[in-house]
Amino acid sequence: TIGMLCIDENGYLAGACTSSGLSYKVNGRVGDSPIIGSGLFIDNEIGGAVATGMGEAIMKSVGSFLIVELMRQGQSPQTACEEAINRIIKANPNYKEFQAAFIAVNKKGEIGSHCIQKGFSYVKYQDGKNETILSSYNF
Ligand code: ASP
Repeated sequence: TIGMLCIDENGYLAGACTSSGLSYKVNGRVGDSPIIGSGLFIDNEIGGAVATGMGEAIMKSVGSFLIVELMRQGQSPQTACEEAINRIIKANPNYKEFQAAFIAVNKKGEIGSHCIQKGFSYVKYQDGKNETILSSYNF
């Protein structure tokens, strides 16, 4: 999955995601990426979030929507991503067998990310510079 979140100099938010889905997926499977609220959610008044990883687990958490709603309630992008991952872990006893990750941005341009297992990184582009950031993780 490729997920992207953008904020411009006026604070306008946008996002996109695209995915080929999981390897060896069942013919006709629809993952989280095309489902608004699961793989991607943006509210221009609050912020945005995008996901990668095990689509079935992400969909059941409605994770991207959850993160934006937690930010609406005052949480930072980082703690909101952590909460979404914690809910996935709680709901899936086999959580060590797959990866799930979120990135998020709020209206102020603050960013956050969290994943289940070490190894997810993403790139922040700002002022003409790219910065690779290793996401925080549970395991
Ligand atoms: N989230 C995608 C899916 O489940 C897979 C991925 O992120 O690589 O379809």
